[in-house]
Amino acid sequence: MNRAVFLDRDGVLNVYLPGDYAKTPDELLLLPGVGAIVQKLRAAGYLTILISNQQGVAKGLMTQADLAAVTAKLRAEVPLDALYYCPHLKDEHCACRKPKPGMLLQAAQEHAIDLSASVFIGDTPTDAQAAHAAGVPFVLVLSGQTKDAAGFSPTPNAVADTLAAAAEWVLRRVQ
Ligand SMILES: [Mg+2]
Ligand SMILES: [Zn+2]
Repeated sequence: MNRAVFLDRDGVLNVYLPGDYAKTPDELLLLPGVGAIVQKLRAAGYLTILISNQQGVAKGLMTQADLAAVTAKLRAEVPLDALYYCPHLKDEHCACRKPKPGMLLQAAQEHAIDLSASVFIGDTPTDAQAAHAAGVPFVLVLSGQTKDAAGFSPTPNAVADTLAAAAEWVLRRVQ
């Protein structure tokens, strides 16, 4: 079985834009050092897998080509083994949109991942709920939408100011 670090995108790998989306490569502003941090996790034997809700296409705010261009920039900078996007609108009630665990369960099946030996790093309660539902330990990173861990629910396994600190927690946990 493999271990994975699941990563949310906005607010974890790139700057969270309140009420907006990264619709073009120029709007995807990567946070400092994320490529090297993710590489460090890969070097420690983790699959690095993006788990992201992206309803911008369904909302008509961006095209599939825009999303592909944004994703190409992300992949050029950050060594990800796999990417899962939920493209659906909230109202479509699909099985993949976080807080549902669909993308995590699909990734586990497709990459033979031991979910309890894996970690999800995210910045919102929605991420934490998806992780909780899939039985994946959750690290709350305060680089995005959530600025204060007080009252955050479900309770995270750890809280980190930055992705670098979250990765350190993951790497310490292994030993
Ligand atoms: Mg986020
Ligand atoms: Zn979906």
